[in-house]
Amino acid sequence: MKYDDANIFAKILRGEIPCKKIYEDKFVLSFYDINPQKKIHALVIPKGKYIDLDDFTLNASSEEITGLIKGINIVAKKLGISTDVGKGYRALTNISEDGGQEVPHLHFHLFGGEKIGKMVQ
Ligand code: 5GP
Repeated sequence: MKYDDANIFAKILRGEIPCKKIYEDKFVLSFYDINPQKKIHALVIPKGKYIDLDDFTLNASSEEITGLIKGINIVAKKLGISTDVGKGYRALTNISEDGGQEVPHLHFHLFGGEKIGKMVQ
């Protein structure tokens, strides 16, 4: 499958569609989900064009992989849901149609701000 430049997160990365930005650096952009499923529902996406975690794992550089993983921690800290303040959260990524992925640009959901509950509904 080829990366679709018209997907909504690609448009957000290009600044064509607004977002409620939480954090940005060389490797990641983070913003609030438009349809929050928990008290805090943030998204963290790599700046590179990767469809999903499988694509990212196979094709991203070590620098990009480190940047995304560290980005998740930075965002959790910014949101006050990280373990260093005694909190916690769920980081989740859906992969392809069977995994429930709707937007074909890799993204991690960060759910927090309350007890998140069972892993799968
Ligand atoms: P997926 O099902 O692909 O894992 O999750 C896609 C997520 O993107 C959904 O939680 C959905 O609410 C969110 N989303 C879809 N369109 C937009 C948008 O235009 N802006 C923002 N901030 N989130 C979006």
